[in-house]
Amino acid sequence: MHELSIAQSIVDFASSETERQNAKKVTELNVDVGELMQIDAEVLLNALKMLTTDMRMKDCKVRLRVVSASFSCRRCSSRWGMAEAKRQLGTLPPDLKVEEPESDELPLHFFPYLYPAFIHCPRCGSSDVAVTEGEDVQIRRLVLE
Ligand SMILES: [Zn+2]
Repeated sequence: MHELSIAQSIVDFASSETERQNAKKVTELNVDVGELMQIDAEVLLNALKMLTTDMRMKDCKVRLRVVSASFSCRRCSSRWGMAEAKRQLGTLPPDLKVEEPESDELPLHFFPYLYPAFIHCPRCGSSDVAVTEGEDVQIRRLVLE
């Protein structure tokens, strides 16, 4: 399970920081989850709660925030979001998609890094596109005591 291994690495990081900084406990942990990661935020939150049972982490406040995906054009600096990306992906030939039957999940949902390859700039048409936000999981805030 994707979410469980991500939760484990977050907890491992928090716990090694606690040791490194000689802290007694972790009081707050805020995590940003990128939209392109296709992570179920509730599953991740439950996994984190399940793994933070150690004395130093058990009273820790865990918060998750989903960060919307955002794309940008390296040629004209335009920016756009997931709605435009989905619209463009919807026009791909069906044999390029890896959709699962009876699922309304996005095509390419296991390969967020492939998105820029299938998307072009809605303003100038360039295919030199970068993912600006929403492609990773980050610890935004870690409060130790
Ligand atoms: Zn452009």
